[in-house]
Amino acid sequence: MTFIDTQGTGLSAPYSLTVNPPKAPGSVRVTVVSPCYNEASVLPQFHARVSEVCRRVVPDYEIVLVDDGSSDETWAIMSALAARDPHLVCVSLSRNHGHQLALTAGLHYCRGERILIIDSDLQDPPELLEPMMKVVDDGYDVVYGMRRTRAGESSFKKATAFLFYRMLNAFADREIPKDTGDFRLITRRVLEILNAMPENHRFIRGMVSWAGFRQTPFLYDRQARAAGETKYPLRKMLAFALDAITSFSVKPLRLAFYAGMLLSGVSILLLAYSVYSYFATNTVRGWTSMIALMLIFFSVQFLFIGLIGEYLGRMYLEAKRRPLFVVNNVVYGGHAKSAETSQL
Ligand code: UDP
Ligand code: MG
Repeated sequence: MTFIDTQGTGLSAPYSLTVNPPKAPGSVRVTVVSPCYNEASVLPQFHARVSEVCRRVVPDYEIVLVDDGSSDETWAIMSALAARDPHLVCVSLSRNHGHQLALTAGLHYCRGERILIIDSDLQDPPELLEPMMKVVDDGYDVVYGMRRTRAGESSFKKATAFLFYRMLNAFADREIPKDTGDFRLITRRVLEILNAMPENHRFIRGMVSWAGFRQTPFLYDRQARAAGETKYPLRKMLAFALDAITSFSVKPLRLAFYAGMLLSGVSILLLAYSVYSYFATNTVRGWTSMIALMLIFFSVQFLFIGLIGEYLGRMYLEAKRRPLFVVNNVVYGGHAKSAETSQL
């Protein structure tokens, strides 16, 4: 039995991830890892296509699938596939944790020397494993898929994604590649850095960029979903954008400071003007402008208080050092092994 400590979280054995891997870390050439949330309609096709590619490119492979608390047949299908396929490792989470945490869970089970991160809806072609492997052979640690086109997505999704990546870079303290999702091939040392990051609000593509080493884009055309529908409604996209910006920058906080300075300057001038006009014109005119000013100042204040609250809230959550995810069950290809509920 191996205890993987959560690197500095101070969690002792009972709270650590308990895995009993048949193979040691780094003992498989490639791991393909994919989070799945209600992907029953696409999973068999995904498994077949990934397996076909791996058999051809790197016969020594494993596929780690994470069921992120799906409410459809995803887990049943995964278990059935695992019963036949010794290359599969299936992890089920105790409830829906969201894309980034589901992927985080999967990354903790990867034993490959190289890891291909891919969505399970076949929007990103698994066949690109082959050319990406060649790029890593040339000495890169990260090859990230950069979308040249995005098929089958609404113009709203494309426009918001376009804005998201540009805004992110305007704010972020370090360059985060544009038009790039989590689809990428990384080496084991990058994986280990990711696994050592204990933060709760995870923006994995930013974290990979933070890790450094030699990274390079790989242009590709993103396909439409093979089946099913997007699990990223506007609400989740906004939460994701907030995570991305606040976890990689404190610029919004500085913005609050500068805006505060500017507004204070303006208020002093306005105060002087109002005192002057009180004596000089002896009038009670100006009710409208007062209301207007109050509205503007209050709204700006509240906006930034909200922003500060957001950061404070995040610090509070990080300070709690809660486990990032809770694993319900792990199945290593072929035979079900009901790992006692383990946490990380
Ligand atoms: N996903 C997940 N948990 C969630 C939402 C999504 O594991 O709460 C998975 C989903 O199954 C897919 C990937 O994350 O493999 C990306 O989601 P999706 O394709 O719906 O996002 P989009 O491509 O539309 O941005
Ligand atoms: Mg998708």
